[in-house]
Amino acid sequence: MNPRKVNLILLGPPGAGKGTQAQYLQSKLGVAKLSTGDMLRAAVASGSALGKQVQDIMAKGQLVSDDIMVNLLRERIRQADCQNGFILDGFPRTVAQAEALDVMLSEEKKHIDCVIELKVDDKQLVERIAGRFSCAKCGAGYHDNFKQPKKSGVCDECGATEFSRREDDKAETVSKRLDAYHRQTAPLLPYYQKKGVLKGVDGMADIGDVTRQIDGIIGG
Ligand code: ADP
Ligand code: ADP
Ligand code: ZN
Repeated sequence: MNPRKVNLILLGPPGAGKGTQAQYLQSKLGVAKLSTGDMLRAAVASGSALGKQVQDIMAKGQLVSDDIMVNLLRERIRQADCQNGFILDGFPRTVAQAEALDVMLSEEKKHIDCVIELKVDDKQLVERIAGRFSCAKCGAGYHDNFKQPKKSGVCDECGATEFSRREDDKAETVSKRLDAYHRQTAPLLPYYQKKGVLKGVDGMADIGDVTRQIDGIIGG
């Protein structure tokens, strides 16, 4: 597979490291990183009609409707920066979304090359989410214990000094999101397994090691 033109899905529970690895792959491969969580949070922050519609659902840790998500993605995938490839982070999250994605991509004359599953157990996820924070300016992800900025208080990527924590990263919402993952998203694993595009990586390993496993899969 040509590493410079590749359409990937990163699949895994909340806190598995999808955003972290997508950030790396985006700069390495020069493809677009499409994080539906980031797209929705930007809509909420902007106060748009879509943002108002999804705000409460996200605060409760529930899933936004498939219709909204598929339309959001279709518009995004048509943009110029996706023509060299894209990484989906946080989408699809239900079998219905995966089926709608297949239809939409074939209409757009595209397809998914590879689905990478990040395997992490629930206990570790809770710890990862509890320590997660990100740059308020560029969104780069960090962790209290596992990934501090190289210079304390200064974003590695953009030099900003303001950071934020997600509203839905509090313990009560996290268990709902994990529940939603096991019930609604885990059935995607056999779905992609049957298509022969699923590859698993050990997401419990440290960040650099997970990156190396992914490089091995996509031929980097
Ligand atoms: P995480 O990275 O922790 O898995 P995300 O940032 O991907 O979380 O998603 C945050 C929230 O945004 C989800 O709990 C859900 O409410 C909403 N969301 C994101 N992607 C989707 C999607 N594909 N379908 C439905 N809801 C979504
Ligand atoms: P997701 O997008 O799947 O919800 P993130 O990429 O935001 O997950 O990672 C969740 C948190 O765990 C972040 O604070 C991130 O810095 C940290 N993290 C990511 N991958 C690892 C890893 N392999 N080991 C330890 N911490 C990690
Ligand atoms: Zn930054």
